[in-house]
Amino acid sequence: MSSSTAAPAPPAAKALLGRKDLMRVLSLLDTDGEEARVVGGALRNALLGRPVGEFDIATTAEPEAVIARAKAAKLKSVPTGLAHGTVMLLVEGEPFEVTTLREDIETDGRHAKVRFSRDFAADAKRRDFTMNALSMTRDATLYDYVGGLADIEARRLRFIGDPVSRIREDYLRILRFFRFAAAYAEGPLDPEALLACLREREGLARLSRERVRGELMKLLAAPRAGEVTGEFSETGLLGALLGCAPNPRRLVNLLRFAEGGAPDPLLGLAALCVNLPEDAERLRGRLRLSNPEAQRLVEAATAFASLHGLEKPPAAASLLRLIFRSGKRAACDALALMQAENSENAAAWREALASARAAPELRLPFSGTDLLARGVPDGKAIGEALRDLQTRWIEAGFPQDKRRLAELLDAAAAAAKK
Ligand code: ATP
Ligand code: MG
Repeated sequence: MSSSTAAPAPPAAKALLGRKDLMRVLSLLDTDGEEARVVGGALRNALLGRPVGEFDIATTAEPEAVIARAKAAKLKSVPTGLAHGTVMLLVEGEPFEVTTLREDIETDGRHAKVRFSRDFAADAKRRDFTMNALSMTRDATLYDYVGGLADIEARRLRFIGDPVSRIREDYLRILRFFRFAAAYAEGPLDPEALLACLREREGLARLSRERVRGELMKLLAAPRAGEVTGEFSETGLLGALLGCAPNPRRLVNLLRFAEGGAPDPLLGLAALCVNLPEDAERLRGRLRLSNPEAQRLVEAATAFASLHGLEKPPAAASLLRLIFRSGKRAACDALALMQAENSENAAAWREALASARAAPELRLPFSGTDLLARGVPDGKAIGEALRDLQTRWIEAGFPQDKRRLAELLDAAAAAAKK
């Protein structure tokens, strides 16, 4: 290990060691002939000034030893990924992912065969990007084997080693490249990496739909989602994954117009590639969306398609009809998509969206029982009277007050009994 790779950790990284739970895990594993360090995302985020999520710990101790030490210290351990050397330790409910140092002995583009090792440098080099490969000991020494610190300071995302070979080991890294660029980097994408992603694009077909979905959703939730998705689309790779020509401009606009924080990634996905309910169905298959997710997209697409071609937003009465027909959530989703699509008229669509958000959920406030109670005979007549009542209620502008509702009921019952 060359001494130039080890240096006192910058204050932002060192500050992590102020956490008692983290120190407890490190001390437990960093003793009696074993070593342990904080690695990966937590260090990267601390140095970028971003919120730190879960801690990943790398250790020379093998999983059984980690479990035994946890047990002796009365810490709960969960064997979350024993086969690849990961044990989760819980300290007062806070999870720490502890992974034994590894080296790849064989890769097939998806899975790696690993063997445990005691070499922190080798463990760093099998990681994907330089900014993900730092490690720090509990005495605040930062190890940087691949120039990660300088890249973090420059907000530069680079593969460790030759991008083409690294992608061939694991094609998910193509998606991770765009995801991390959107989340943590600034400026143009690394041209060499971009070229490697293009060269190796055939490999994307080998990834499981769950993994594609996971990376894509994280990409859509990242601060530079719009910009990076644009570049991703230009490569042709995104379209191939989604099975359509993506519309990054609409996503950029959706993100730009979003008030009160970023919209959720699912709506971003809709902006990117949903125009019709069929598109939502296709994505359900391609990305293994859950039923509620697919349903939301289908409903949004249906409402969106019903607005298609409008030059200006529907007036108040039609807006209420849209909410009644589609449900409030789908109506709001569709209006946000319309705003993103018609950016030249964004202010008007924003107003419509704001009134839809402020409107109540519109459900028919009557049932057959109300009509029965007014003497409408049971059977076919009830169904017809209920439809008539619904039309009257819609035409009256969805009133909610009791007196007006009673009048409508009386009128519909009288008409049914004629
Ligand atoms: P996030 O905040 O998004 O969770 P993270 O850096 O923790 O960021 P993970 O996907 O949780 O990202 O991975 C943890 C670490 O494991 C990464 O920082 C990276 O060093 C390494 N890693 C994860 N996936 C891969 C991969 N496919 N190839 C190489 N290294 C990887
Ligand atoms: Mg993580």
